[in-house]
Amino acid sequence: MSEKKKISRRKFLKIAAATTVVGGIAGAGVYKATEFSSKAKGKIVIIGGGCAGLSMAALLMRWLDEPDITLIDPSDRQYYQPGFTLVASGVYSPDEVWKDQADCVPSGVKWIKDTVSAVDPSQKEITTANNGKVFYDFLVLTPGLQINWDKTEGISRETLGEGNVHTIYDFEGAQKTWAAIQKFSETGGKGVFTDTYTKHKCGGAPKKICLLTDDYTRQQNTRDNVTLNFYTAAKILYDVPYYTPRLLEIYDERDIDITLNTRIKGIDTYAKRVHMETIETVGEEKVVTPIVEDFDFLHFTPPMSAPDFVKESGLSWTEGKLAGEGWVMVNKETLVHEKYPNVVCLGDCAGIPTSKTSAAIRKQVPVAAMNLISIMEGKTPEQKYNGYAACPIITDYGHVLLCEFDYDKNPQPSFPFTMMDMSKEQQAAWHLKVRGLKPLYFYGMLKGYGF
Ligand SMILES: Cc1cc2nc3c(=O)[nH]c(=O)nc-3n(C[C@H](O)[C@H](O)[C@H](O)COP(=O)(O)OP(=O)(O)OC[C@H]3O[C@@H](n4cnc5c(N)ncnc54)[C@H](O)[C@@H]3O)c2cc1C
Repeated sequence: MSEKKKISRRKFLKIAAATTVVGGIAGAGVYKATEFSSKAKGKIVIIGGGCAGLSMAALLMRWLDEPDITLIDPSDRQYYQPGFTLVASGVYSPDEVWKDQADCVPSGVKWIKDTVSAVDPSQKEITTANNGKVFYDFLVLTPGLQINWDKTEGISRETLGEGNVHTIYDFEGAQKTWAAIQKFSETGGKGVFTDTYTKHKCGGAPKKICLLTDDYTRQQNTRDNVTLNFYTAAKILYDVPYYTPRLLEIYDERDIDITLNTRIKGIDTYAKRVHMETIETVGEEKVVTPIVEDFDFLHFTPPMSAPDFVKESGLSWTEGKLAGEGWVMVNKETLVHEKYPNVVCLGDCAGIPTSKTSAAIRKQVPVAAMNLISIMEGKTPEQKYNGYAACPIITDYGHVLLCEFDYDKNPQPSFPFTMMDMSKEQQAAWHLKVRGLKPLYFYGMLKGYGF
């Protein structure tokens, strides 16, 4: 441990544990980076400089006395993806949700602007597309997830918008969605919204854009001209019991029809027809019922998985629910790989049973960083992540149902929301979502603060 540390590790961990690790803005700063430092040495390579990777880089730069950190990421831009929903509803302009990646990579970090094509964890070896092989002592795996556009027949990333088929899970797609919602409000017709059967980023996002479309048409006095239908692949609209009743009530009050257990097979953009199937278990048997719906406006969610190079690396779960899509086999509390203790993984790529959100990452970063340093020091990783995730479900232009919960789906409201009935939508949560969280992302998390 460094001479320049202000308090001992033991005291630091005690303070951290005793302080509620809340998710709201007010909870920022539990892990005051200046209060801890370590002389641990070793070459750290971070694969993926998004929300999780850059936050880890920034925090490790602060906590290590002699950091040796290499980041591999091909991006020109850093996107604040939670803002895509607000671009798609006209609240943010597109230019408000991104910054140049060069301005976001912490100084002192060696940035290899390249794509990783393979990892061999037994050799501690990474293969890049254009820069040959890179070796590491410690690996931070944060490449996010891969959107599998080819898994929905009839539409691709390039053809988004054709037949009035849209998705906010893409920057261009979000912009097209906003233009289409405005037009849909004028023309009227049938709006179909879907999520998907795989784990996906921000499970609330498909519901948010549906509710915002509803509210937008009400504001334009055209709601009577549209019908809205939400299809979910899940057994229930939202599986966090504290928030589910109010969300169902809102859908009911707004006259939005919900169909459960249903997933998209393909889209005929020419005929404006979506082919789906409902999969139900009756006794021991799976009963599959095909459904075909005409639409005038369709918002769909593409299937997602871990990136291909991760699936091929031997770092993924090999059995259980998280194996199919290749999510990484990490301990759900320590975020350390179950087989390779010199690897930590967090963010969307991690195979842990919580919601894939940047709010979750905010609570994962200090745990993963502290545990990585413990491993570098030859100690046992002791920090534990409790599965905290937050999903601000925008229910209208002015209110958000701020769902915050842990692995056990217990509500975990952040201060000052502990003083409100957070099982209901709140105006204060809207202000947090629209005004507070983006600066917290760009000027807090990505700079190694605000955890
Ligand atoms: C529409 C939408 C709405 C959302 N709403 C919310 C919300 O309201 N609240 C919330 O908390 N979260 C929300 N999220 C989710 C949140 O944005 C993600 O959970 C978060 O960005 C994931 O961070 P990450 O670091 O794991 O991945 P990312 O931020 O996606 O970063 C992954 C990085 O890895 C890099 N990479 C990928 N492959 C490779 C490779 N082969 N080699 C090298 N680098 C690679 C990429 O270039 C990228 O920079 C939303 C997301 C979307 C799309």
